[in-house]
Amino acid sequence: MSVSLGRGIFDAFFASIKSLFKRRYTLRYPEQKLDLPDGYTFDAKTQVGSPGVKGRHILYLDKCTGCSLCAIACEGIADCIDMVKVDGTWPKDKKAIMPQIDYGRCVFCGFCVDACPFDCLFMTPEYELASTDKRKLVYTPFQLGNLPEKKGLVEFIPDEKSGAHHA
Ligand code: SF4
Ligand code: SF4
Repeated sequence: MSVSLGRGIFDAFFASIKSLFKRRYTLRYPEQKLDLPDGYTFDAKTQVGSPGVKGRHILYLDKCTGCSLCAIACEGIADCIDMVKVDGTWPKDKKAIMPQIDYGRCVFCGFCVDACPFDCLFMTPEYELASTDKRKLVYTPFQLGNLPEKKGLVEFIPDEKSGAHHA
């Protein structure tokens, strides 16, 4: 008992000393934000998901077929995808219906991305979605089609030995 207690104290002390020599960073959020790695993608052919940040979705409208598989995948999870009518002509989507996502309910599981057989629904590193108006959390297909804005991003450099810092 006393050996493990002594070992615990030593480990805690050693970890504290080690951290004294690591580089630290202070981010001036919200003016500065970390330039996070790419969002979450899923390769429908190999059935392999890529490691990545699970933020707001990106929908490639020209590739979407309106098959609704993303919405079906979400049904048992958060039921936050509605297939809605989209103005315009879409050669791959004769019915012209595409997913609309309610971020007031989305849990960012990524199952809808995995379910899309046409590689047109992915996730981006955009995580600032809060709003005081619930209606603004519902993203239409056209909103999902926009790439996230990149403002005030700071490169994040993880370093196992000397600690994480930014450029
Ligand atoms: S990431 Fe959101 S929209 Fe997609 S299946 Fe999960 S809860 Fe539904
Ligand atoms: S995003 Fe993918 S799964 Fe969803 S309707 Fe379009 S093609 Fe189908």
